[in-house]
Amino acid sequence: MQSLLKDKILLNKYMLAYLRQAILNVYDVQLAEKQAQIALQIQEKARLKKPYELKTIFCRRCKNFSPPTIYSTIRLSKGRLIITCQRCGSRYRLPYKK
Ligand SMILES: [Zn+2]
Repeated sequence: MQSLLKDKILLNKYMLAYLRQAILNVYDVQLAEKQAQIALQIQEKARLKKPYELKTIFCRRCKNFSPPTIYSTIRLSKGRLIITCQRCGSRYRLPYKK
């Protein structure tokens, strides 16, 4: 039981590290996509809590990598982010991060 918890904590650290690299990597979009995919795979396999940043960089409808300013646009309205995916054209809302 103790080792399972340690594994989850470690996987959470790895997932956040990959996610941070994907967000900071603005010059190489393909590498950023790969890093974000790895972060998503770790999150799904280990059943970790989905970070807010991971929700904003993957489209909710087409599940593609769509980081803001490259493949999606973000507007602010009524306490929510309205994210428009440029690949499939769908819009979805997220509350501001507190
Ligand atoms: Zn989409």
